[in-house]
Amino acid sequence: MKLEIERVKLKPRHPFEIARGVLHERDVFVFALTWEGVTGFGEASPSPYYGEDSETVTAAIKQVKNELDGTPGKIKSRIASGDLRKTLDNHASVRAALDMALWDLIGKTEGKPIYAMLGLDPNKTPATSFTIGIDAPEVIDAKVDEAAPYRILKIKMGFPGDMAVLDRIQARSKKTIRVDINEGWDIETSLQLCRELDQKGVEFVEQPIHHECEDDLRTLKRLSPLPVILDESIINPDDVWARRDQGHGINIKLMKCGGLTPALTLIEEARRAELRVMLGCMLETSIGITAAAHISPLADYADLDGNLLIANDPFVGVAVHNSKLVLPDGPGLGVTRLDTT
Ligand code: MG
Repeated sequence: MKLEIERVKLKPRHPFEIARGVLHERDVFVFALTWEGVTGFGEASPSPYYGEDSETVTAAIKQVKNELDGTPGKIKSRIASGDLRKTLDNHASVRAALDMALWDLIGKTEGKPIYAMLGLDPNKTPATSFTIGIDAPEVIDAKVDEAAPYRILKIKMGFPGDMAVLDRIQARSKKTIRVDINEGWDIETSLQLCRELDQKGVEFVEQPIHHECEDDLRTLKRLSPLPVILDESIINPDDVWARRDQGHGINIKLMKCGGLTPALTLIEEARRAELRVMLGCMLETSIGITAAAHISPLADYADLDGNLLIANDPFVGVAVHNSKLVLPDGPGLGVTRLDTT
């Protein structure tokens, strides 16, 4: 198996600010895995919050580049639960890139889109939300106007004055609103503001409290009138059952869990624990976003807008029509490179 890597500097349309900090650009790595003349594509978008960056990705690639012997199916299982799972334990985005490249490659070999390989109905994709990062009031207004094509907005909160920003957005737009606190509140603030958010008609709140404050999250799950979706708390399949009493649902991201294969296990675990399923993303090109979109018929909610938030996506894959995710029907991921010549 031959592995080629391309580093791409993604430029957000606006500097992307959340409760933890601001992002001006992000390096992602496009993986091209070739086997018997067929090439599958994958993507790693490393997140410093989860202990990864360009240096760790580069080092991990060097470590496994010459270890990729065997059929695509064999390598996929080595990454999911074998020797490569161990080698890449702290490199979830690299596992995600290899796993999705292998799904793409196998789909191309079989002539089937990934959703069809999984027996999923492409008409059952959910609508995706469009994220509005923290910004000055006038910029927030402009972002809300730019979000006109989308029916659901996800608002980043968790900073002083965040309720006033929400009020401003609701005055300007009557859309469904979800909020993401990125661990920015304590239990007292959460109890009070979840009640207020519920009265304002917000659909759900994502990770209001730090993931280590497990007792506070349990209390909030019991008392909040608003559903709480866990994001930073949920990385691997084991986390789902262990934290089932700390939220009403989980946000799965391929870059956190290590690709489509573990994401499918996370979804099964969530259903076993009677939790709702959301599919989220990092800032990613259409490779990573399309991969997640292929399994979105299994999800209750989608926040797959990472490609829409960047100005220089080199690829085309999943589309969004009236907010709904529309899957490409080509084999594998069905992603193609934009012709820039
Ligand atoms: Mg989140």
